[in-house]
Amino acid sequence: MIEENKQGLLTMSSGEGSQPYNYAVGVYGSRFIQELRDHHRILGIKCPKCKKVYVPPRQVCGPCYTEMTELVPVASEGKIVSFTILRFQFLDPETGEKKPVPYGYGFFKLDGADNNFQHFIEVPEDESRLWIGARVKAVFSDQKYNSLKTIRHFTLVD
Ligand SMILES: [Zn+2]
Repeated sequence: MIEENKQGLLTMSSGEGSQPYNYAVGVYGSRFIQELRDHHRILGIKCPKCKKVYVPPRQVCGPCYTEMTELVPVASEGKIVSFTILRFQFLDPETGEKKPVPYGYGFFKLDGADNNFQHFIEVPEDESRLWIGARVKAVFSDQKYNSLKTIRHFTLVD
């Protein structure tokens, strides 16, 4: 159903139908999620040729096409590479609920990794404290999830 809201924007809803689905996250994706869920530890994978560490782990190094098998822990802390603050509510695909705004989303270079990891970032009351290069750390959920939800969000390190 398509409706027009008070601002004149069209919104579309898919109704109440469920859309169940499953997909395999692979060998390394499984280890990554399990380590996160059981030990609050973030795993990367190291390329034997160029020595780059990727998080989350994947099977092949993009720049040198080398198969990777060595899982290595990386820090749950790092620095902000890029971020945005979202102020427009939309449905969270994880929960089906509207996510409270404002909230942040960013790319982080975790200590020990060579690529960027993306996740939510907590927006401080003073938004000017968020800046590229600021140190952040993962805040873990008290609940165990078989997904990235084990990390609630990243927050600034004082
Ligand atoms: Zn490589």
